[in-house]
Amino acid sequence: MSDIQKNMHVFPWGHERRFNAYSNHFRKIYGGRIQKVSVNAGFTCPNRDGTKGTGGCTFCNNDAFHPSYCHHDKSVTRQIEEGIEFHKKRYRRAFSYLAYFQAYSNTYAPLDKLKKLYGEALMHPAIIGLIIGTRPDCIDEQKLEYLEELSQRCYLTVEFGIESCYDKTLRRINRGHSFDDAVRAVRLTAERGINTGAHFIFGLPGETREEMLSEAEIISGLPLKIVKFHQLQIIKGTAMEAEFMSDPAEFHLFKWDEYLDFFISFLERLTPEIVVERFTGEAPPRFLHNSIWDKKRSDQIVNLIEKRLEELDTWQGRLYPGTS
Ligand code: SF4
Repeated sequence: MSDIQKNMHVFPWGHERRFNAYSNHFRKIYGGRIQKVSVNAGFTCPNRDGTKGTGGCTFCNNDAFHPSYCHHDKSVTRQIEEGIEFHKKRYRRAFSYLAYFQAYSNTYAPLDKLKKLYGEALMHPAIIGLIIGTRPDCIDEQKLEYLEELSQRCYLTVEFGIESCYDKTLRRINRGHSFDDAVRAVRLTAERGINTGAHFIFGLPGETREEMLSEAEIISGLPLKIVKFHQLQIIKGTAMEAEFMSDPAEFHLFKWDEYLDFFISFLERLTPEIVVERFTGEAPPRFLHNSIWDKKRSDQIVNLIEKRLEELDTWQGRLYPGTS
C-alpha cells in the first residue's frame, strides 16, 4: 500500500473497507444498494438426473439454500414479487434487484427455455439484471453467445459452483467434473466479457489447511470477478452426513476462532482484483447436522472479520505477489 493510500485509508478497490466488498462493487456501478431475489425456475442438475450421476454432490441438499418464497411451482414473476416484498422488510434501502437463478443448474436446459425464463425475470420493472448459478459442465458456445449478448443489455454474472481446486476432493464429493472443467468454463465465459462468479467450500474432507490456503493463489489466477466462500456445514439427510457419522475423524469442521484465523490468512493471499461476496455460509439451523459458531449470523461474521483485519492492520491481497 502506498503512503497516499495509507493516509487516505483507501485500498486498491477504491474504498476504506479492508476487503474488496460486494456491496461496494454495486455501489460503484449503480450508486446504491442492489439486492438479489432468488428464483427456483425448476431446473435439475446433470449430477442428479443420471447424465453425470444420480446421487448429486455429497454435501448437497438444495432446500437448505433457498429462501422460503422460492419454489418452482410459482412463476418466475411471482417469486420475484414475493422476494422483493421479503427483502423490503429487511433492507429498506435496496432500490433495484437482481434475479438470482439459484436452485440446481440454471443453464441446464435448451436455449429457448433459458431465454423464456431469463426474459420473464428481466420483464419485471424492478429487475436490472441476472445472476445465473450453474455447473462448469452446463454451458456451451451457443449458450455463451446468447449470454454475451444478454450481458450487453443488462447486468449479468454467471456463477459457477467450483467448490475445490483439487480433483481428489472433487472426486470424493462426487462433483462429476474436474477442476480443469471449471477453469475452462470460467475462461470461456470471461473471454466473452461476461462477469464470472465462483463458489468454494473450505473444510472439505481430505484437504489440509495448507492446501486450502494455496487455493488463494490458484483462484487469483482465474479470470473471476466475484467469489463466495463457505465453511463446510454438514447438512441433514445428505450423503456427506452419513459419511461424517461413520468416520468423523476424516472431517475438519472449523471452529470459529480457527476459521477467523484461516480466513484472514486466505484473504491476505487473494488478489485484490477479485470481489468477495461471502466469507461464510449460513444454512438454516433446522438443516444442520450440528449447529456451530453460537449461531453467528453472516452480518456479525463480516463485522468480526473486518474488526480482526483492522486489529492486525492487514487487508485482502497484502501478501499477494506484486501487491505493495
Ligand atoms: S450442488 Fe449443484 S451440482 Fe451438486 S448435486 Fe447439488 S445442484 Fe447438482
